[in-house]
Amino acid sequence: MATVSLRDEAASLLQELIRLDTVNPPGNETVAAEHLRRYLESNGVACDLYAKVPERANLVARIPGTGDGPRLLLLSHTDTVLADPLEWQLDPWSGELRDGQVWGRGALDMKGQVAASAVAVASLAREGFEPPGDLIFAACADEEVGAGFGLQWLVEAHPEAVRAEYCVNEGGGDRLILGSRVFYVCSTAEKMSAPFRLTIHGRSGHASRPGIADNALVKAAPLVETLGSFRDEPELGPEVAMFLEAVCGHVPPAREAVQAARAVHPLAGDIIEPLLGTTLTPTMIEASKKRNVIPNRCEVTVDCRILPGHTQSEVEGKVAATLEGAEYDLEWIEAHGGTRSAVDTPLWDVIESFVSEIEPEAQTIPLLLSGFTDSHWVREAFGTVSYGFFPMRTMEAEVAARLIHSADERIELDDLELGVRFLRHAAEGVAALP
Ligand SMILES: [Zn+2]
Repeated sequence: MATVSLRDEAASLLQELIRLDTVNPPGNETVAAEHLRRYLESNGVACDLYAKVPERANLVARIPGTGDGPRLLLLSHTDTVLADPLEWQLDPWSGELRDGQVWGRGALDMKGQVAASAVAVASLAREGFEPPGDLIFAACADEEVGAGFGLQWLVEAHPEAVRAEYCVNEGGGDRLILGSRVFYVCSTAEKMSAPFRLTIHGRSGHASRPGIADNALVKAAPLVETLGSFRDEPELGPEVAMFLEAVCGHVPPAREAVQAARAVHPLAGDIIEPLLGTTLTPTMIEASKKRNVIPNRCEVTVDCRILPGHTQSEVEGKVAATLEGAEYDLEWIEAHGGTRSAVDTPLWDVIESFVSEIEPEAQTIPLLLSGFTDSHWVREAFGTVSYGFFPMRTMEAEVAARLIHSADERIELDDLELGVRFLRHAAEGVAALP
């Protein structure tokens, strides 16, 4: 064991985690939590399992601080999305090591970071690491569905287990080459996911006599089209402005931001485009259950993403203005996220120092995520500074983006090893803060 490198240790642990099926639903994350507990306890790290229901445990491991220094939470989730083996070149739960890559569902999202975090904590414990504040590792259930078994439940039921000043989570670390310069993105903010349902009313009737009914589906059609072409008044939040400043060398006006970013690299334009305002994307529609019955109601589900700092009632106003004169009921389905952490923090400096160490010419830049992660739970509950960062130097960001939640997901061992190095650096960096 003593001669095993951290690279091999992380690879083996990742292979073992991939072989445990934690597709959510149903999740069954307890098998992964138990496996991590055995590994961590054998390295002298104290662990607790917290479970709302027995089969969906969250693991929390801790190297206790010697004083009341800042606590660092290494946050991750052990559940994965499903995989269709017919689409894959290899069994998605094989954890096979091939050509320097570990294959399997969750390799990138995010059992790789789970394994790297566990190895970082275990190796620090073996070395007698004594930080001034707790180093905490949480491997949570139920991130992919969010049905209330994972971090959401943990911050309510056991807040002291995961309370921390700083947090490193998933959602960033991509290495981008834009206009011949190298950037590592660190996600510091996320849009709010706030889907809503529009109900359009009519009057039912027999489909053979359309003249005397009032077809709710037909009335909904122009509304769907109008919502689909909605473009919000663009604005530059602080993260997007900093991103543009770094990539373009200046902050263009909001209306020219996509064009300016695209002029540096098309990818930069694609990244910026959904981050300038609220987006409305109609995704589902339901009307009559019967072919020959004209529907008296039609329900349209709209995926809506709102910039941090904006509210759902503002969006209701925008929808009303967009659908001027139309009659409908609007009902919010749920709302998650829409949080940010400041960029000028000691944790940012720690991440930036790592990037300078591995690639001196590269720049670390903040990113607002169009989606959301578990970071918002700790930002909301504790005011935690939470960033998404797991450096990916070897696999191209566009390749990784294609593989996440998709077939043939795999991670480069070089990136896994770099992740262990980074997470150790983060722990040591936070421990060294004045
Ligand atoms: Zn994830």
